[in-house]
Amino acid sequence: METETKKIVIVGGGAGGLELATSLGKKLGRKGKAEVTLVDRNHSHLWKPLLHEVATGALDDGVDALSYLAHARNNAFRFQLGTLIDINRDQKFIRLGRIDNEQGEVLVPERNLSYDILVMALGSVSNDFGTAGVKDHCIYLDNPKQAQLFHNKMLNLFLKFSSQPHEEERVNIAIVGGGATGVELSAELHNAVKQLHSYGYQGLDSKALNVTLVEAGERILPALPVRISSSAHQELSNLGVNVLTKTMVTSADANGLHTKDGEFIKADLLVWAAGIKAPDFMKDIAGLETNRINQLVVERTLQTTRDPAIFALGDCANCMQDDGTPVPPRAQAAHQMATLCYHNIMALLNGGTLKSYRYTDRGSLVSLSKYSTVGSLMGNLTKGSMMIEGRLARLAYISLYRMHQVALFGCVKTGLIVLVGSINRIIRPRLKLH
Ligand SMILES: Cc1cc2nc3c(=O)[nH]c(=O)nc-3n(C[C@H](O)[C@H](O)[C@H](O)COP(=O)(O)OP(=O)(O)OC[C@H]3O[C@@H](n4cnc5c(N)ncnc54)[C@H](O)[C@@H]3O)c2cc1C
Repeated sequence: METETKKIVIVGGGAGGLELATSLGKKLGRKGKAEVTLVDRNHSHLWKPLLHEVATGALDDGVDALSYLAHARNNAFRFQLGTLIDINRDQKFIRLGRIDNEQGEVLVPERNLSYDILVMALGSVSNDFGTAGVKDHCIYLDNPKQAQLFHNKMLNLFLKFSSQPHEEERVNIAIVGGGATGVELSAELHNAVKQLHSYGYQGLDSKALNVTLVEAGERILPALPVRISSSAHQELSNLGVNVLTKTMVTSADANGLHTKDGEFIKADLLVWAAGIKAPDFMKDIAGLETNRINQLVVERTLQTTRDPAIFALGDCANCMQDDGTPVPPRAQAAHQMATLCYHNIMALLNGGTLKSYRYTDRGSLVSLSKYSTVGSLMGNLTKGSMMIEGRLARLAYISLYRMHQVALFGCVKTGLIVLVGSINRIIRPRLKLH
């Protein structure tokens, strides 16, 4: 393939897509060797594993979000605001949906964007498995808007409670899904209550908060070793979180959750964080092979099985490993896939050999807010899996985000961002209070 004026389009500026656009922009866009375009439905990027912190106010997305336009200019790629709705593989273009203003008036009509190489990196959404009432009554923490919605509802509930605290009443919040999101959110909620109390929310303390974490499986954090899930379970119980395992939710309504055993879990605020899928419109999109959760099936080179000009990475890709299991939908996988995809696109343009992706599990860490961090580290040094807890675990947890920042900004700028973060912790409130 010739390198001149090739059009590379990346859809989705998340954990994987934005890193890829940045490296391709710097390598090819800057020298005019290719036109690199990133498409995202939002104006700004926020690393998804931080969403539970946005939900509780521990993180202010207004401060931490990165503008795509500014980042694109600094790294020699183009940014197009838009939502992918279809792909035309014969004529090699993608279709972007129209953009309306709040009144429903058309700002930008539907349009096409042509490509020579297309990378699908549009992530995943929560999978409610069609459970009755969930769509109408639960919040999914899929994007900053939903995290913000949770934050507003949470503050309203706390405000109402603290204006008229009653001995017997509590604020009831139920979270479905004992994976990392549910566990981390449960702990963050207790921290939020503590902080709000210190800012003057009368009567609001840990006893006033009733968080129920519901998991269908035998234990929370099923993807992690038993020792870690037991440790996290214990920490949550110590905080006062009501952890229910082997509990299947069959439906949700405005007042709470119904379980298979006939129990009712009363809740003022409901969150669904049990399982993921690629968005429904991806099912068989443009005749590409997809699996039962709508992910695009890819070869080890990350090219889709039916079209080598289309790559997929991150949560929306189904990449099988040697042991027959799929690569898990994790930020570290999206990060590694973005690096490999960069090499393979360069190889495709330069007539080189494409490499195969192999997932390297660096371990899993779960942050229980400021109370604790637990997890396992994997690697050559640890010769397998090593359980870590406390400060070391916290450092390892943060390092995953730092790796993402280094991929976007380089080491010097990341150092400055860390410094600004430290200053902000001194001059700004500990919690977003509005
Ligand atoms: C609360 C929470 C905590 C998590 N914690 C961890 C953790 O500790 N460790 C870990 O490894 N993983 C964690 N994860 C999982 C991790 O966030 C994902 O695996 C990772 O973000 C996937 O990266 P991605 O690039 O595939 O997609 P994403 O990062 O989700 O990015 C997808 C992008 O595509 C855009 N997009 C979506 N649809 C369209 C469309 N139709 N058109 C245009 N743009 C579109 C979105 O706006 C978004 O910017 C967590 C997830 C959540 C929700």
